[in-house]
Amino acid sequence: MANMDIANPSEEHLMLREMVREWTQEYVEPQAHEHDRDEKFNLELLRSMGELGLLGISAPEEYGGAGLDAVACTIVHEELSASDPGFALAYLAHSMLFVNNLAYNGTEEQKARILPKVCSGEWIGAMAMSEPDAGTDVLGLSTSAVQQDDGTWLLNGRKMWITNGCIDEEGTPADVVWVYAKTGEDERGRVQMSTFLVEAGMPGYSVGQKIYDKTGMRASNTAELVFDDCIVPEANLVGDVGQSLLHMMGNLELERLTLAAMALGIGRRALDEMNRYATDRVAFNAPIREFGQIQRYIGESWAKYRAMRAYIYDTANNLTIGTSGQRLDSDGVKLFATTAAKEIADAAMQVMGGYGYVGEYHVERLWRDAKLLEIGGGTLESHQKNITRDLFKDGEAINR
Ligand SMILES: Cc1cc2nc3c(=O)[nH]c(=O)nc-3n(C[C@H](O)[C@H](O)[C@H](O)COP(=O)(O)OP(=O)(O)OC[C@H]3O[C@@H](n4cnc5c(N)ncnc54)[C@H](O)[C@@H]3O)c2cc1C
Repeated sequence: MANMDIANPSEEHLMLREMVREWTQEYVEPQAHEHDRDEKFNLELLRSMGELGLLGISAPEEYGGAGLDAVACTIVHEELSASDPGFALAYLAHSMLFVNNLAYNGTEEQKARILPKVCSGEWIGAMAMSEPDAGTDVLGLSTSAVQQDDGTWLLNGRKMWITNGCIDEEGTPADVVWVYAKTGEDERGRVQMSTFLVEAGMPGYSVGQKIYDKTGMRASNTAELVFDDCIVPEANLVGDVGQSLLHMMGNLELERLTLAAMALGIGRRALDEMNRYATDRVAFNAPIREFGQIQRYIGESWAKYRAMRAYIYDTANNLTIGTSGQRLDSDGVKLFATTAAKEIADAAMQVMGGYGYVGEYHVERLWRDAKLLEIGGGTLESHQKNITRDLFKDGEAINR
């Protein structure tokens, strides 16, 4: 037990980390600054991750996936994000929000037909829940799906803020999107939501706009998607009518864990940058790390980084993909780590002075990217609400 490292609990996990870190250094790091500056998504780089077996990291091997666990997913997101959080977000939208969702909730026919394509990178996937007028209030959605006499579904509505919604500058939509739509009300008058697989080429599916001028995550594409009398075959309904909440519950914990893992990558990189700079930079005839105020930035950042790392990997080691039961902690890690990452990046900018404020020195990009993690995939307020509600139901969680 003495040398146990919960971030690398097995030899395989350590090898995965080393492989991804090396690959990231060689291919992700050199393009990160430019793609952020130009607000450009590196589609080919994402596709190439199919050859590494990382696009279907959690999907079963029989469909072309790698069949790995939540710790492995956490490692990959941490490593990518330490170089390029924007690119890591595009990876997350594809592999966690789409591929993992399909792997655990899709029908056999859907999995056999679509998983090999998204695991190889031939197809790029996205997940569309948010709308122009509904985000946190998921059941406030207005995109509707109505079944026609011939069995097909007619989708109408708009989805907003969809990562990978478009895959280039020409408005080419994602090859396949996991779409939540309203299909009626249940017997108690509550909104009934169903899940559909919408594929490029289906009539009525298009990109409304690529969203420019984001604060951060500029290396990922964010788009508005339009469904205008979009015809979806009957076979593209996922599971049964009204099952979306089940799908969301099954996937949400892994989504939040990996978003927290992205925050961990940001925190680690920002700390590394400020630590090196504090040695190299001399002022008043001394390296600035000798000044007490600089020591406070570094010392507090180290403690926050280690705390987030421990909490994130503790949660990852206890999370079984496809099951729910870790919601307190998947909300908890995202709540804690995202703000911690933003604060560490902020400390790094402060330590690095004017250099910290320009793109070449990385930390200002990490600072901008970190902010999104407090909003996307659940806002800080939604995590606070969920945790407080869950602790009302199970107060004993505190003493276990
Ligand atoms: C770059 C980017 C990428 C994204 N990618 C995707 C994606 O791939 N797929 C997708 O579906 N969505 C995506 N989103 C959307 C994201 O998940 C939402 O922005 C987020 O869920 C918040 O929703 P909202 O923006 O509508 O804000 P709102 O829900 O309107 O919230 C506004 C404010 O009100 C607060 N609030 C709302 N309800 C409550 C309450 N009950 N109690 C207290 N406070 C409350 C919120 O916490 C927030 O502070 C992305 C967003 C961005 C910016």
